[in-house]
Amino acid sequence: MTAPPPLLRQWDNDHLWHPFTPMQAHRDESVPIIQSGEGFFLIDTEGNRYLDGISSLWCNVHGHAVPEIDAAIRYQLDKISHTTLLGLASAPSIELARALVERTPEGLNKVFYSDSGATAVEIALKIAFQYHQQKASPEKERTLFVCLENAYHGDTVGTVSVGQIDLFHRIFGSLLFQTMRVPSPVILRVPEGHCAESYMAYCYEALEKSLIENQDRIAGFIIEPLVQGAAGILVHPQGYLKRVRELTTELGIPLIADEVAVGFGRTGTLFACEQEAVLPDILCVAKGLSGGYLPLAATLTTDEIYNAFLGEPHEQRTFYHGHTFTGNPLGAAAALASLKLFEERDILENVNHNAKHIAKRLAILKEHPHVGEVRQKGLMIGIELVQNKEDNKPYAASLRKGHQVTLAARKQNVILRPLGDVIVLMPAPAMPEELIDQLCDVVIASIEQATTE
Ligand SMILES: *Cc1c(COP(=O)(O)O)cnc(C)c1O
Repeated sequence: MTAPPPLLRQWDNDHLWHPFTPMQAHRDESVPIIQSGEGFFLIDTEGNRYLDGISSLWCNVHGHAVPEIDAAIRYQLDKISHTTLLGLASAPSIELARALVERTPEGLNKVFYSDSGATAVEIALKIAFQYHQQKASPEKERTLFVCLENAYHGDTVGTVSVGQIDLFHRIFGSLLFQTMRVPSPVILRVPEGHCAESYMAYCYEALEKSLIENQDRIAGFIIEPLVQGAAGILVHPQGYLKRVRELTTELGIPLIADEVAVGFGRTGTLFACEQEAVLPDILCVAKGLSGGYLPLAATLTTDEIYNAFLGEPHEQRTFYHGHTFTGNPLGAAAALASLKLFEERDILENVNHNAKHIAKRLAILKEHPHVGEVRQKGLMIGIELVQNKEDNKPYAASLRKGHQVTLAARKQNVILRPLGDVIVLMPAPAMPEELIDQLCDVVIASIEQATTE
């Protein structure tokens, strides 16, 4: 039973606190109340159909209401919806662990489940920390985590500590544990005194210097491989990830790859690390894991790290961490069905085809007087709006230009969600080309509209 739409609107305003949302403005915006999904479309209570241009916040893979995934969930639903992994096991979570080990970079043999990207990262940090305390030759002073400037790894206190997005994180400063940050190798606005090349050289030098000088106290290096999503789709230069891996290997620093956003086909390979032949010590996945259907996450690691947690119970080497819904059977069933579709439908081929197509379609924006940069890796696209193209001067935040583009797109039945003044396109990996065209048409028109107002 569903309340009539005007009542839903009223109750939304009365009771619901939306994430990452200025709630005072939200009241006046009458956001669509989504009632159902059909393929790559979202349908609201008024019967409007919207193209889902952001994969329901970067997680949807094969579309909505996909018969094969729905059937897998229903099949599991008829057996059991939830049972714990504390003291018990369950078939879907076992089979999924096996499937993940088979598909992730070789050497990641152990799977620890949780239910969101933030928990997957939180677990990675705690595993890395505890590993140094318990490994064969313990290094108890290894307690410092290294992260990149503008990193985003989730919203729990631990993941905010390794996060570096001022707008989101500044207020919690005094609550966080100390971390070390290295510059992010991206060049839209190089600091004064640098050109693009000299800035890149500086980034590599700073990386090496920070790691070498602090090597004995570093617990782990966490990175979003290839693309820093929430920072505004910042694409790293080719070879950066590989260099990070070489250095961390050399210095005995575990590398944590946060593939929460880039995993499951987003960048053109099933996992982004593959593109630089990198084996991380710990890999975090979430968003696309269940096809974007249900809250499910996993943290994978090597035998080397896992073995440090083995011993007799009284030796207290156990990883005392777990979430109630860890390894939820419905989520695992959805994930297994999603992985099957990846192969049956050659989703990666579709990603690579559409990535090229989008690059061609958006090329026209490069000349646009209010587009500073179009950044793209696979099906992650960020279009940065600027007031002035000559010096990439940003618009005043109060103009909410990115938001204006989103509103213009919504009027044309496309759902977008910007990151500040970066327009993000994150079409589902399985979206067909004709819908990609529709998405590009509306985005180009909406940018034009919002920047000429
Ligand atoms: C979204 C995201 C997270 C957090 O995932 P949640 O499921 O929202 O907790 C962590 N890391 C990266 C790179 C992300 O994009």
